[in-house]
Amino acid sequence: MAEYMNMDTLRFILNDVLDVSQLCELPRFKDYDQESFNMLLDSIKAFADKEMYPVFKEMDENPARYEDGKIVVHPVVKTLMKASGKNGYIGPTFDYEVGGMQLPHVIESASAHVMQSANNSLPGYFALTGGAANLIISYGSQELIDRYVPNMMKGAWGGTMCLTEPQAGSSLSDITTSATRNEDGSFNITGQKIFISGGDHEYASNFVHLVLVRIEGAPAGTKGISLFVVPKFRIAENGDLTPNDVITAGDFQKMGQRGYCTTHLVFGENNNCKGWLVGAENKGLKYMFQMMNGARIDVGMTAASTATAAYHASLQYAKERPQGRRILAGGKKNVEQEQTFIINHPDVRRMLLLQRAVVEGSLSLLFQTSLYHDLSKESGSEDEREHYHDLLEILTPIAKTYPSEMGRVSINNGLQILGGYGFCTDFPLEQYYRDIRIMALYEGTTGIQSLDLLGRKVTMKNGAAMRRLTKEIIGTIKEASTYDDLKKYAETLKEASKTLEASLMHLLQFAMEGQHERYVADATIFMEMMSNIVIAWQWLKMATVAKKALLTGDETYTANFYENKITTMQFYFKYELPKISAAQVTLMHEDNLTIPEVKEGVF
Ligand SMILES: Cc1cc2nc3c(=O)[nH]c(=O)nc-3n(C[C@H](O)[C@H](O)[C@H](O)COP(=O)(O)OP(=O)(O)OC[C@H]3O[C@@H](n4cnc5c(N)ncnc54)[C@H](O)[C@@H]3O)c2cc1C
Repeated sequence: MAEYMNMDTLRFILNDVLDVSQLCELPRFKDYDQESFNMLLDSIKAFADKEMYPVFKEMDENPARYEDGKIVVHPVVKTLMKASGKNGYIGPTFDYEVGGMQLPHVIESASAHVMQSANNSLPGYFALTGGAANLIISYGSQELIDRYVPNMMKGAWGGTMCLTEPQAGSSLSDITTSATRNEDGSFNITGQKIFISGGDHEYASNFVHLVLVRIEGAPAGTKGISLFVVPKFRIAENGDLTPNDVITAGDFQKMGQRGYCTTHLVFGENNNCKGWLVGAENKGLKYMFQMMNGARIDVGMTAASTATAAYHASLQYAKERPQGRRILAGGKKNVEQEQTFIINHPDVRRMLLLQRAVVEGSLSLLFQTSLYHDLSKESGSEDEREHYHDLLEILTPIAKTYPSEMGRVSINNGLQILGGYGFCTDFPLEQYYRDIRIMALYEGTTGIQSLDLLGRKVTMKNGAAMRRLTKEIIGTIKEASTYDDLKKYAETLKEASKTLEASLMHLLQFAMEGQHERYVADATIFMEMMSNIVIAWQWLKMATVAKKALLTGDETYTANFYENKITTMQFYFKYELPKISAAQVTLMHEDNLTIPEVKEGVF
């Protein structure tokens, strides 16, 4: 079987760079150690090899679709739903009492990476079920938990998140799906939701939709949104399932992730759809953010994993494809010589290194963010928890966006390596290229993530999150500076951080003058700049660990493995980090071109 991800790189980041076994000191994770984490990931790799990777292409060729009022998906979804319940893939981070394994989020992210690299269409089916169950556990009544969660944890019922409506995508304040109170404590639900992932199929006997709804008379905007459980089938006292007037109106046909159904749901067409309130009225969006934040990291991980699989496919091709000859001294070529493999052409090596720099940099950032998530929940003191929570908050939009945007760029380079074959369906690059495109769109577009970063996270608590992140980066710079070979890279990152600070200070003036639209007008460029620095931080961290291992003769991995990490860091600092200078020019440019009133009549 072709290699689609690398377990050594995964272990290196988890164990050597982030030392996730530090979590096992915390009471919640005391049953685990590094060895048990490794064993778990090995077993997931075996499952992914056997069940997920072999159907990756097949699922694309036989996409999920709507036929005779039903959603048809690939039969592997049945295997997956059953196995995910049996093997504990649904809600692995949950408490033991509700059927979870009390695993750290960072290990859940690592498991997701293995599975998503094998097949990026499949894990969503159970990941969303887990996310929906978690919302019920966190905010629902005991009755709701008892009624829905056990079957969701078994993989017998699916779960979804229902936010989007035709007129309300990025702007959730405009949702109109409505609820009216019934005497029995339930509500009547009416409305429609579009683009609902995993919203219906034949391999789950019920679907538990977590739906954002406006209760009649609720305040306008996001302050009037409540969260409801709306099942496809109601559960009678004797356990029988009866239809709940949730109609599946269709399945969106997509350019990528075609094996993953994307449904259109209509609630209460016959005025007979019941929903049950989760938590308090009008707090729905706040609750949903728990699922959305988790899903944002998961989307970033799916992007990084899809790009990982693409990297391995193009690397294999580059090693096997003979074409052309090396350029000899004096610029000549010896045509008598056999063709060289394309991996020996500097331009192909540049593209491969770009892929590796993006995917491993993304992975390191994603695992770092998940580790902060665990520490924000389980650290001993309140101060520590707040510290890690702020870091999680500021990194989440970047962890979603960088892998989605730059993962696509890296796959594009991978496709280029295959030449004309990259464009053909005989090779998987074109599928990876199509599949990754959605990542910058759902769970908040890049534009929306960038507004969140610059408009909210950077300024939150008077810049506290930003200061904490800067401190983390300075810590890495200091450590790297203790190694002669890394000093110049540490210095470069220090200068880059100053460039970021200067650009931010420039922008903040607009906010202080009350020109908020101007302040965030180029938020996406700011996102690119800050992401670039954050990924450089992760690479410097990885290179420092690799350098130390080489100097101490650590043989956990080969010397070549460690050297390659350092080379990739150097690549990142030579080819990618300098892009912040161009971003700074744009951010500090005096021309104001995109605000409608300033440049009227442009379009
Ligand atoms: C395959 C797929 C699966 C999905 N799964 C789910 C799901 O399971 N559950 C769910 O609820 N939804 C789901 N979605 C919906 C998805 O989250 C939305 O499509 C996304 O949030 C964007 O909303 P929209 O499509 O209405 O685009 P719009 O909000 O109309 O955005 C269009 C463009 O305008 C920009 N824009 C919008 N508002 C602003 C602003 N204020 N400032 C700057 N730029 C702005 C956007 O960045 C974007 O470029 C899914 C979508 C797809 C395609």
